[in-house]
Amino acid sequence: MNIESKIKALTELLNQYAYEYYTLDTPSVEDSEYDRLYHELVKLEQENPQLIRADSPTHRTGNVVLDGFVKFQHPYNLYSLGDVFSREELVIWEEKIRKELKNPEYICELKIDGLSLSLYYENGVLMTAATRGNGSIGENITENVKRIKDVPLKLRDAIDIVVRGEAYLPRKNFAKLNAERELEGVAAFANPRNAAAGTLRQLDTKVVAKRGLATFLYQEASPATNDTQEEVLEYLEDLGFQVNSVRKFARNMDEIWAFIEEATALRDELPYDIDGVVIKVNNLSEQEELGFTVKAPRWAIAYKFPAEEAQTELLSVDWTV
Ligand code: NAD
Repeated sequence: MNIESKIKALTELLNQYAYEYYTLDTPSVEDSEYDRLYHELVKLEQENPQLIRADSPTHRTGNVVLDGFVKFQHPYNLYSLGDVFSREELVIWEEKIRKELKNPEYICELKIDGLSLSLYYENGVLMTAATRGNGSIGENITENVKRIKDVPLKLRDAIDIVVRGEAYLPRKNFAKLNAERELEGVAAFANPRNAAAGTLRQLDTKVVAKRGLATFLYQEASPATNDTQEEVLEYLEDLGFQVNSVRKFARNMDEIWAFIEEATALRDELPYDIDGVVIKVNNLSEQEELGFTVKAPRWAIAYKFPAEEAQTELLSVDWTV
């Protein structure tokens, strides 16, 4: 196959996978396979920029916006994250930061495998909740988000604030939901992330209330009133949001890697799915200095865990019978 046909085939395949994942909530391939093909396309496009197609998934900042809900225009662009898959790639990212900043400090957070949300509060009252959509236009899912028990309808302070975070389905609730679906003869959800996405798109709010979604908030999307990401997280906690307590301050690559190893070891024990670690420059004015590419902030990166080995089910045989 020549390069042009290869780029066309990869573009079409990735668009099909993205449709299944974001719109139908039923992926047909593992995320790692999607990521592998995506990066193959990125490489081919970098080497052959004249062959980039208008419908290339590398042009999108996010997902497809559905028709079922009212569209919502975000006042602040909700960026995705760049990603790396190895220590070597992470070292390259960290060196780039080091070229720009003298003594960078980082916050490492768990990358929650859920659905990106933004919450709009006026005078401390939850007015709107929206999905990220394509980063600039999302879907208004306020009524559904109000059914998530840990989302505060009213904050401790009567302030205007826009907060970003992740909605997810705890593993226990995911198992319960799929067991119920099996009894009803309905197809099971592929993973908690897809179940969470499907749940937030329900038109019946009762269903949302029953499924037990949860959230972790991690960013002030409106102009921040704090100096560092660490302070933002503490502030969000004080306001009444759920903030993930598993996080670590780091000053260099070794400290970042130590946290990645900790997170890897912790992964199976957590009550929710994570798919990596997000490393962010801690100082918010340094974040501003570094800015954004078209798609993602330069001041943060997602380290994605390697694909999990397919679990072979071992049958235990009881030799006593
Ligand atoms: P992403 O999931 O790779 O990373 C960005 C997102 O991470 C952010 O938008 C945010 O919602 C989330 N996040 C979680 N914890 C965070 C934290 N502590 N701080 C900051 N952000 C945090 O990007 P994406 O664009 O949402 O999704 C793309 C991914 O979706 C692909 O890499 C692929 O794995 C998957 N995908 C899979 C298929 C498939 O068919 N299997 C298809 C399309 C996409």
